[in-house]
Amino acid sequence: MTIARPLKTPKDLVEADLVEAEHLGDIARVAERYAIAITPAMTALIDRNDPADPIALQFVPDAAELVTTREERDDPIGDLAHSPVEGIVHRYPDRVLLKAVHVCPVYCRFCFRREMVGPQGLGTLSSEAMDKAFAYIAEHPEIWEVILTGGDPLVLSPRRLAEITQRLSAIEHVKIVRFHSRVPVVEPERVDAELIAALKASGKTTYVALHANHPRELTQDARAACARLVDSGIVMVSQSVLLKGVNDDVDTLAELMRAFVETRIKPYYLHHPDLAPGTSHFRLSIAEGQALVAALRGRISGLCQPTYILDVPGGYGKAPLAPSFVEMDEDGAVSVSDYRGGKHRYPPES
Ligand code: SF4
Repeated sequence: MTIARPLKTPKDLVEADLVEAEHLGDIARVAERYAIAITPAMTALIDRNDPADPIALQFVPDAAELVTTREERDDPIGDLAHSPVEGIVHRYPDRVLLKAVHVCPVYCRFCFRREMVGPQGLGTLSSEAMDKAFAYIAEHPEIWEVILTGGDPLVLSPRRLAEITQRLSAIEHVKIVRFHSRVPVVEPERVDAELIAALKASGKTTYVALHANHPRELTQDARAACARLVDSGIVMVSQSVLLKGVNDDVDTLAELMRAFVETRIKPYYLHHPDLAPGTSHFRLSIAEGQALVAALRGRISGLCQPTYILDVPGGYGKAPLAPSFVEMDEDGAVSVSDYRGGKHRYPPES
């Protein structure tokens, strides 16, 4: 079934054969609280014959989202606690988030900002709020990097993006402009010469961090969109979320990380899923995550290794979760594990 328009309502999903009519009531209740959107590129990837399809799991709403557990919270990574002015999150000294827009081309069912994004979310920053956000960046010389996130900043028109990058170009102490986006995968046709030109800030280095979670998302069209970005001189890194049922096995993770590297995207973060409301069906334990990350070591090239990371709930920033390969006893003797589990004293006894 070819569907040329984005799916945005429970009725759209039933008509596209992605939700059974008998579940329409539950899905309508989910839609009252959380936004829905699936682009044609992602709809085309879904295997309707597979009830556990990893693409469908990411985008098609599920009645499990109606369950909010005790530990889940509306602002799981504590953006609001670190927002000095509207649209800015200043959590670490040398960088800020600039959340210009709270709209995405797709709405991920595990989204960590699901209470802020979507048609009923925080919307797009007004021009007055934008002025205040740029004034804040200009007044803080310690800000070396500005990360455009949201929402997905690449839904903005090239004209709006160019305005942002030109204003950042004029701030001497900002050296890096980074965009967090799913667009090259979920709407690759949007990545054209005009958009690419708009991402570049004169005198600064532009990074695009691509969010993708399953190797099937790296279609030929997605890879071509990424190639256009990289060929233009933009540096790409990846971000993925470790998700039960989507990528919580070593083969899938290995294939995903290799697909990134083949596409000239350096694997950067593998996020432990955040405590966003209605997402407990996606979460695995940190111990399970560590076992998967340990299994990647040695199995795939060092180029393909992401950093397994947790955003500490409450806004305390990121903490690496990687299993340790080093043990030290009380006398300071060091034992190092190899990727097969063998232990070796360091330095070796002669
Ligand atoms: S693209 Fe990012 S911000 Fe948008 S719904 Fe997905 S995880 Fe949330």
